[in-house]
Amino acid sequence: MTETPLISWPPELAEEQLTALTLQATTYALSHGLVYLPIAKTQPPAPTSTIHAPLALFPSPIPRKLFEQARALQRIYNVLYSRVATDVQFLDNVMGEVEGVGKVDEFTGQLWRRWKRLRDEGITQSLQLGLFRSDYMVHLPDPSGPASLKQVEFNTISSSFGTLSERASALHRYLHSSTGYFGSSPCLQTANFPRNSTTSGLAEGLATAHSAYSVPEAWILFVVQEGERNVFDQRWLEYELLESHSIHVIRQTLADLATSASVDPKSRILTITAPSFPHAKGVEISTVYFRAGYTPTDYHTPAFYDTRYILESSRAIQCPSFQLQLAGGKKVQEVLTKPGVLEQFLLDESRWGDEAFSQAEVDAIRGSWMEMWALDEGIGGEGVQKARDLAQTLVLKPQREGGGNNVYKEAIPAFLDQLPTQEREAWIAMRLIAAPQGLGNYLVRAGGGTESAVKTEVISELGIFGWALFGGTDGKVKEKEVGWLVRTKGKDSNEGGVAAGFSVLDSIVLV
Ligand code: ADP
Ligand code: MG
Ligand code: MG
Repeated sequence: MTETPLISWPPELAEEQLTALTLQATTYALSHGLVYLPIAKTQPPAPTSTIHAPLALFPSPIPRKLFEQARALQRIYNVLYSRVATDVQFLDNVMGEVEGVGKVDEFTGQLWRRWKRLRDEGITQSLQLGLFRSDYMVHLPDPSGPASLKQVEFNTISSSFGTLSERASALHRYLHSSTGYFGSSPCLQTANFPRNSTTSGLAEGLATAHSAYSVPEAWILFVVQEGERNVFDQRWLEYELLESHSIHVIRQTLADLATSASVDPKSRILTITAPSFPHAKGVEISTVYFRAGYTPTDYHTPAFYDTRYILESSRAIQCPSFQLQLAGGKKVQEVLTKPGVLEQFLLDESRWGDEAFSQAEVDAIRGSWMEMWALDEGIGGEGVQKARDLAQTLVLKPQREGGGNNVYKEAIPAFLDQLPTQEREAWIAMRLIAAPQGLGNYLVRAGGGTESAVKTEVISELGIFGWALFGGTDGKVKEKEVGWLVRTKGKDSNEGGVAAGFSVLDSIVLV
């Protein structure tokens, strides 16, 4: 994974050009649904206004080879994580309550226990759907040396910003066709703006699960968070499902589902009956798509986990199932880096036959990883000692999603001082990716009255989307790579989520 160092960025603009570009960008975003709900204490049931999503004015430069590599890797990652999610023994060892992280991490334990109960009672639906996003940053430890692409994490639940990222790339194409970006850089050529059709790709994943369920008139259930502001990213998927696949969607929170969801004891059909809902008898659900449930705060009481359990005890295909969510844990990411583990999942011909991957493919996956280890490694506390010694080069991660949970660099020693020994098992240490220095962009955020672009030095994170339908009796994984996302943040921010307020939506100019 090598490429030449990156160019300097962004191109210079005159003040008037920047003002004109900002106006074009924000009005385009507002008129094309590249939007969020505004911040409000409580959202009205039927919103009356939106704000544009946080944006970068220029696409960010990414070496063409690295972008293509990331897309090629996705097909392997889709299969890898499908296999992890169907390896009961492995997941029990790594994430379970008896031997794994579930012992010490309450959230992981709650999920694992519900999965175990399902297994004990007999799982009704073995098919599972994953809508994945593998996140990367360009790694350039030596500014005059080669650049490579390193994985930040692999998401198996609520992988968001697929549809808005498609709109962010359309925005940059539009700015280019409209202004030519004022001729500010020779890199800004249409041929260097890769296509992004994530919306249709993700909807195709959901539609594939729906058709595997074999009841065309069934609906898809979106499980959503209360007070969600990123609703349009989800709505675009709904519109695509209806327009291109004639599939209806119902949105419910976990709190709603406590009363609206029921599973027939014989047929195991999941039915949703909601008071505001025109279908008096309720609707049968083919697929349950979670845009909530990835963080403990989504489960206000233990009963919320039971609601999730009820959904999963049905015939409906889960996206993701408990075990696929567990497979996306940071701990799994770390264990996969241990000698021989990846090989078991990809290379072992006695296990995978014709579906085994090549050594070159295994090397490519391994080559996309930074060094990771477990904090509880070694009988003499070696994992923690190593984390103390190398703190400046590290991030520590717990088993959480959604941003804002990690501990970085100089904060690490004090954090380790107060971390109870038994909780070490719930954390991994990961080497920091050395993003290229000196790249900038103009960032535009809504709010505060006047809109203006702020020029900032930035770090970009590339996400590649894919889906996989797996778990059937034939053992096959049906999967696809379906698009990409770029999120860009100020270089001094450790974290990177858009929803968490750190990043803006961006796209790519290939260099
Ligand atoms: P989450 O599941 O909460 O999104 P991530 O692993 O993606 O957790 O970490 C959150 C953010 O922290 C990332 O978006 C990235 O900006 C930063 N980060 C995580 N791991 C690394 C790393 N190894 N090197 C540099 N930055 C990282
Ligand atoms: Mg994540
Ligand atoms: Mg992340």
